[in-house]
Amino acid sequence: MPFWQAAREGRFLIKHCSSCGRAHWHPRQLCPFCFSAETEWWDRFFRPPLSFDKRQRSKSH
Ligand SMILES: [Zn+2]
Repeated sequence: MPFWQAAREGRFLIKHCSSCGRAHWHPRQLCPFCFSAETEWWDRFFRPPLSFDKRQRSKSH
């Protein structure tokens, strides 16, 4: 799985849905929002939208 492989190398990958445009952290094949299979990998250098960052932070609170 590319996600864990990258994590082991010290990189973070998140998935981005090209169908609804939302990013999700969990390494899933299907988008959890619109269940589209058209997801692609983002590495940590690709900044996700601010709304995504906020949601993740409030969840862990
Ligand atoms: Zn989607």
